[in-house]
Amino acid sequence: MNIDKLLRTNIRELQPYSCARDEFKGEASVYLDANENPYNAPFNRYPDPLQWEVKDLITKVKNVPAENIFLGNGSDEPIDLLYRAFCEPRIDNVVAIEPTYGMYKVCASINDVEYRKVLLDENFQFTADSLLAATNLYTKLIWLCSPNNPTGNSLDRKEIVKLLTSFEGIVVLDEAYIDFASEGSFSGFLSQYPNLVILQTFSKAWGSAAIRLGMAFASTEIIGILNKIKYPYNVNILTQKQAVASLKNADQTKAWVKTLLAERTVLVQELEKLPLVQHIYPTDANFVLVKVPDANAVYHHLVDKSIIVRNRNTVSLCMGCVRITVGTPEENKTLLEELKKF
Ligand SMILES: *Cc1c(COP(=O)(O)O)cnc(C)c1O
Repeated sequence: MNIDKLLRTNIRELQPYSCARDEFKGEASVYLDANENPYNAPFNRYPDPLQWEVKDLITKVKNVPAENIFLGNGSDEPIDLLYRAFCEPRIDNVVAIEPTYGMYKVCASINDVEYRKVLLDENFQFTADSLLAATNLYTKLIWLCSPNNPTGNSLDRKEIVKLLTSFEGIVVLDEAYIDFASEGSFSGFLSQYPNLVILQTFSKAWGSAAIRLGMAFASTEIIGILNKIKYPYNVNILTQKQAVASLKNADQTKAWVKTLLAERTVLVQELEKLPLVQHIYPTDANFVLVKVPDANAVYHHLVDKSIIVRNRNTVSLCMGCVRITVGTPEENKTLLEELKKF
């Protein structure tokens, strides 16, 4: 796999900005190199551009070497950077499963890149062959999401592997919900598949959507490309410090996941009892996709009661569906009571 050949020419030839913290690494007693204000510590200093303290802790929790980790301003940042690195506007294209997370398409539009959708089957599964059939010589990225949003199911692992071995471009596997899934991450396969990019996030199981921290795991070559084109100080010090605190307290995250999975079981059991509910799709995430006769009516009924779920009525294959996040036992109970009244 020649990653370099997949790159846009301007990115391959890019001479990246060299910031003060790139030129001098290590500890010194006097810093007069970055035009910082010497007062107002610790906020006066530029943060570590490569966030090594955070990455070393992620290595301990996720078992991914630090040099195979990229950190960004949410998953949004690596999603956008992958387009900017690999996709020549108006020439290259990407292929994605449909339905899936909306940001892949939005970023394609922003970058003026053709976005090709391949509909999942009735079990929300895909085949490598169907995605490959939608590719051509200009297809640089394929977008997968497992567990998928908004459907909640994990994708067939055999087909993911088949795609990784047969597609001559980058396969992005978004694992935002992997901590809730019954099967593990693909991160153990990184050394086997140089074209694999895995996305994870602090926004879901880690309970830290507000700090905006997303992770990409990939070969050192791909990580090097993302680092070359990112904003020099893309993850601020408040976010880095909060991430360090969370990672040192990883048992808390595990406990939350356990609680939420137990609550998910209760929520599904209770939803099944409601005459209103036509179908509950199998879920491997912290939400459930639920089919009702009139999703718009259910959505607005709940809004009137100050309960917000996600109306997915207009999404492909999700007609009549709302997506419900698993909340606290009290929140779930409130939701169920209002659904009973509908
Ligand atoms: C929630 C979610 C994310 C998280 O995005 P952030 O920018 O990291 O908050 C990523 N991918 C999917 C599929 C999601 O549902």
